[in-house]
Amino acid sequence: MHVARRCIACGVLFNPRSQIPHQRYCSATACQRERRRRWQRERLRSDPDYRDNQARAQQTWRSRHPDYWRQYRASHPAYRERNCAMQRKRNARQRSGPVANIDVSPACRPLASGFYVLRRAAATNIAKMNACTVHIAVLSAPDGPPMHGCKEMT
Ligand SMILES: [Zn+2]
Repeated sequence: MHVARRCIACGVLFNPRSQIPHQRYCSATACQRERRRRWQRERLRSDPDYRDNQARAQQTWRSRHPDYWRQYRASHPAYRERNCAMQRKRNARQRSGPVANIDVSPACRPLASGFYVLRRAAATNIAKMNACTVHIAVLSAPDGPPMHGCKEMT
């Protein structure tokens, strides 16, 4: 006899399966994916060996696929265009906005592990915004597209 409980991902009531008495997530695909994501995040945070392994695996993958992002950008012009537009916006804000005093250039400087403040990108008046403090553990140097400056493809 089980009592229905609330899924900690989606908040919906569900009946835990008898084989999993401590089940905290419902069986929805998204919630199971969330469960694995949180598990991995917790593991990354608490297990330095796991973190090293993940970083090495990423590095190996990238060294075997050196052209992946270049080709991805080349074959997804909308993605590239959006990235460039966002970068231009960031550049403009850095020149004139409230975060101008934060040193973020050059654009491709590797991010250091540490605590960061997370805010919605849409918020330009950041002083009034609620913000989350997040800890970022850097697994590898930035060479994927989100960290690239907007290089014109010539
Ligand atoms: Zn759920």
